[in-house]
Amino acid sequence: MSPPNRHAKPRSRRASVSPLEAATTVVRTLQDAGHTALFAGGCVRDMLRGAEPEDYDVATSAPPPAVQKLFPRSEQVGAKFGVIIVHVGGRPIEVATFRRDLDYADGRRPVAVEFTDAREDAIRRDFTVNGMFFDPIRSEVVDYVGGQTDLRAGIIRAIGDPERRFSEDHLRLLRGVRLAAKLDFTIEPVTWAAMKEHAPEIARISPERIREELDRMLSHSGRARAFGELRESGLLGYLWPTAKEILASADRSHAMLEALPANARFEAALAAILHGTHRAYVEEACDSLRCSNDTKRDVAWLVAHECDLDDPARVRLADLKLLMANAAFPDLLALFGAKLRALGYPPTAFEEVSRRAEAVLPQDVAPPPLVTGNDLAAMGVGQGPIYKKILDRVYYAQLNGDIADAPAALQMARRLADELGQQA
Ligand code: ATP
Ligand code: MG
Repeated sequence: MSPPNRHAKPRSRRASVSPLEAATTVVRTLQDAGHTALFAGGCVRDMLRGAEPEDYDVATSAPPPAVQKLFPRSEQVGAKFGVIIVHVGGRPIEVATFRRDLDYADGRRPVAVEFTDAREDAIRRDFTVNGMFFDPIRSEVVDYVGGQTDLRAGIIRAIGDPERRFSEDHLRLLRGVRLAAKLDFTIEPVTWAAMKEHAPEIARISPERIREELDRMLSHSGRARAFGELRESGLLGYLWPTAKEILASADRSHAMLEALPANARFEAALAAILHGTHRAYVEEACDSLRCSNDTKRDVAWLVAHECDLDDPARVRLADLKLLMANAAFPDLLALFGAKLRALGYPPTAFEEVSRRAEAVLPQDVAPPPLVTGNDLAAMGVGQGPIYKKILDRVYYAQLNGDIADAPAALQMARRLADELGQQA
């Protein structure tokens, strides 16, 4: 038999086993070779509360070279931190050697780690509910940190001395908020006091990491809860350099987040938080958080058009179509509904706009214009700002159903060219 090919392409192949089966195989293989091996962290928490884990992480006493030897098809991702990704049945499973973190130099990552045992690996983790292990072969929970008690009681508690844990790694501040919101758990008072105390230090975390955490906590039905905790802990004012400016309108943001549909996008939630600010401010906030250009564009558009649907009677068909032509229109509609609810208004206006939008056929949202610049040139209209004025007004009339065909559109263009030409 030929040795397994390390360079085989597993990713294009369909996974043949479930993530749970793959992770169990990894544990069994390691245990059979004489090592301790356990499921660790988030997956144990999720299994114990009856939720489907997103992924299964394995922690082991086997040092990285031993892991690699047992799983020839593996990748080193954080060799320094003892993390190897192994592939079983087409599934990638993260295998980390039990470790103890040595000094934290930058408020985020330890400068080095030392390989140790399960207990020490548990106590370097962030929160008790995240600090448990599970042995899938013996079907046994291994809990050195009181995670089961806190999980049952619905409590988020830092492992060890909260003050120290948050000053070592400031990202834990946001992880705590996200976890509490996701699980709908209460943050234990001493942990909470330390979070408030260390809140300003979040500014020292990289914007990418802050954005990533925000994205995760706001793309979730617990988003209002998370926002409330960001605010009460004091974290909110430090998430980007000018974040303090939004504190004054945080009541309204909170109410809107509460009223957004459960599946609302991050962009809609961020727009709810930035509502009422200027475009330049929105763009600067998005840039500071290193949001993608798409996200920045959508959030800026949503904030700029936040009030456009407020009075449906004044929204003409063309106005509606111009809004609908933007891919973020569903988010705008969701924000509108949320705003009405936040302000205690009945949903009548939201229902009316939704009904009208649904009645617009897809091909009628942004039809090709009946009149183009070429037509204007052929008419002898001189190039200049007048071009755009004429084209915009004719297109608006077209969208609004005021003109039905090309001859009518050309006639309107001619009339406008005369009028505007005279004004100029
Ligand atoms: P999620 O469901 O959001 O993925 P998770 O708990 O699996 O939650 P991960 O970021 O995947 O979160 O981390 C896996 C585990 O690693 C955590 O459960 C926790 O035990 C530990 N961990 C992660 N980040 C930190 C941190 N900053 N400090 C200490 N321990 C951490
Ligand atoms: Mg995880």
